[in-house]
Amino acid sequence: MPSTKRDYYEVLGVPRSASQEEIKKAFRRLARKYHPDINKDPDAQEKFKEINEAYQVLSDPEKRKLYDTYGHAAFEGMGAQEQAYQQNIPSLEELLNEVFGGRGGFFEDIFGSIFESATRGRRRTRHRPTRGEDIYRTVEVSLEDAYRGTTINVDVDREVECEACRGMGYDQSKGVKTCPTCGGSGQVVQRQFFMTIAQTCPTCHGEGVVYEPCKACGGRGTVRKRESIKVRIPPGVDTGSKLVVEGKGHAGRFGGPPGNLYIQVKVKPHKVFQRKGDDLYVDVNLTYPEAVLGTEIEVPTISGEKVKVKIPPGTQHGELIKVSGYGMPRLKGGGKGDMYVRANIEVPKIGVLEKVFKDGKKVEKLLKELKELLPEPERIRER
Ligand SMILES: [Zn+2]
Ligand SMILES: [Zn+2]
Repeated sequence: MPSTKRDYYEVLGVPRSASQEEIKKAFRRLARKYHPDINKDPDAQEKFKEINEAYQVLSDPEKRKLYDTYGHAAFEGMGAQEQAYQQNIPSLEELLNEVFGGRGGFFEDIFGSIFESATRGRRRTRHRPTRGEDIYRTVEVSLEDAYRGTTINVDVDREVECEACRGMGYDQSKGVKTCPTCGGSGQVVQRQFFMTIAQTCPTCHGEGVVYEPCKACGGRGTVRKRESIKVRIPPGVDTGSKLVVEGKGHAGRFGGPPGNLYIQVKVKPHKVFQRKGDDLYVDVNLTYPEAVLGTEIEVPTISGEKVKVKIPPGTQHGELIKVSGYGMPRLKGGGKGDMYVRANIEVPKIGVLEKVFKDGKKVEKLLKELKELLPEPERIRER
């Protein structure tokens, strides 16, 4: 009976002179495309069988020699046992371990890509290296701490790598096996009338593999642990400043990198200083004569030292007097902002004059005299 089989070299798409490496590469590429766990097209299975058969022959130097000499006739009349490879479809795991030599670790390289395409972009929650999640915290600091900078400890419940399974989630002594129910695809396919319904495999819950979960972490690969993490608060932080502590988020899973710890800063309001950007504002009370005649007063600063500030004659209520360089440190670019002294002209209530001044009656008399002496102001202020 003449063979209707396609030429093995043609099946793999390689020249007759192809090296073993080239044959392997071609098979790898085709397996990725046609493995029935990945490709749900009904023809894919036959196609893959053909590819697998061609590979089984051409990857074996002795069989390849026979095939080169006699063609398909070389294997005709072979026993059922020897023909088994033509029927059996190797699982994804077998492909990895036997055909590709398992290089690059269990979850990487070819297996990783097969898994990825098998799930068609669906994100696997397990057994693929995934980056740990980030942790977000808000911390409150005083304005003084924001001025000087400080180090605080932030208590964080982190997922950390399970030491027992080195983060892999399964009992390392037993390893993992391809799921017998779904053959590694993580899905079972049901045909109903003209529809094909793919469902998550009930045995492996979509993981494609079965394994004995690590006893220490229950298979998660991570365990929760409370940690106190030192966070440096740089001078000049403001409400809304974001700080990052790299690698102090949750541990990655199955070999993935850890997430980060993000700190959102909140600076508590201060009882004396009001902050606007890098500048600070402080309200001072002046008497009417001080505002009119000018004076020198002592004003507190955020660093704790006191600074003498000249109030010029004729200072108006609400006027700002700038004191350079006494503001907050600039987070970027260095230097400091300024401090502004805001003049508040204090008007004592007539009823409390007795209590406020040593000689209330005298003050009242002087004010009355002053009132007579001062010209009447323009009543209406123009804008
Ligand atoms: Zn399964
Ligand atoms: Zn574990």
